[in-house]
Amino acid sequence: MKALVLERVGELSLRDIDLPQEMGPDDVRIRIHTVGVCGSDVHYYTHGRIGDFIVNEPMVLGHEAAGTVTEVGTNVTHLKPGDRVCMEPGIPDPKSRASRLGLYNVDPAVTFWATPPVHGVLTPETVHPASFTYKLPDNVSFAEGAMVEPFAVGMQAAARAKITPGDTAVVTGCGTIGIMVALAALAGGCSRVLISDLSETKLKLAESYDGITGVNLRQVDLVETVNKETDGWGADIVFECSGAAGAIKDLFKLVRPGGTVVLVGLPPEPVAVDLAAACFRECRIETVFRYANVFDRALALIAAGKVDLKPLVSGTYGFEQSIEAFERAAEGRPEDVKLQIIVDGEGK
Ligand SMILES: [Zn+2]
Repeated sequence: MKALVLERVGELSLRDIDLPQEMGPDDVRIRIHTVGVCGSDVHYYTHGRIGDFIVNEPMVLGHEAAGTVTEVGTNVTHLKPGDRVCMEPGIPDPKSRASRLGLYNVDPAVTFWATPPVHGVLTPETVHPASFTYKLPDNVSFAEGAMVEPFAVGMQAAARAKITPGDTAVVTGCGTIGIMVALAALAGGCSRVLISDLSETKLKLAESYDGITGVNLRQVDLVETVNKETDGWGADIVFECSGAAGAIKDLFKLVRPGGTVVLVGLPPEPVAVDLAAACFRECRIETVFRYANVFDRALALIAAGKVDLKPLVSGTYGFEQSIEAFERAAEGRPEDVKLQIIVDGEGK
């Protein structure tokens, strides 16, 4: 089957490759429609590795996908051919200790699309467990369906934060995930979100949403700004989404006494943390790795019009232009939030 293959660092090709297509009784076969280009896909392309995950052999990229069910296994009851769906790219072992505890996202045995050595889904067809395949409501497009995966990280962060209605939140880092977290925080009951970054372009984009205020770190100090905005009290919730040492150094000075800090960004190297500032405030610290049990809720919010992800699609490419899409993504243009690839323009 034809697929977008990362041959090795810096080399992509659109070529035929053998992919497992065997259906089990609990699986569905899906014709892929739209796939989002993720920062992790781009990082494998440009660096060949993320932490301990190293691209040692050709790997198909893509894990943010939506499509149409074409065949269902004999045990599958909640989906049928013709259903439009999006998929959760991580497949845990249902019998694992982590899964039994409801923590399937941190199951050491999880296999995740486009994480070496597991192939992704930038290809016309895939087979996936039905229990990790979610039917799209009629008013949710394939483009939005393919945005559920990155938005799910925001959902997980908002769930971890245990938001109280009216909370003021700070999000450090206005990349794709920072914006997703800000939107999930607002949908989850925050009254406003201050989001910080060095890029005015990114901040302007985030500010197009009601309730989000950008803080340009080239112009003002974040701690000072948060103090001013909260009468010196601090934010109820701080979401760290930059993974940047500079942002993490003063992170705990942003949160109010008894507030919550949620760590979402992954620093590539160990970073210094002001733990005394955390202790003085007796704040709660939460961590986020991917997501569990949020896809259906994300879809419900999108379908209800509480979250609009459509403005975040910055560019759409055909399957034959996949490599172009990746080259643009690798440029890291500040105005690009999400690029998507339409694998099969036939599906409606
Ligand atoms: Zn992703």
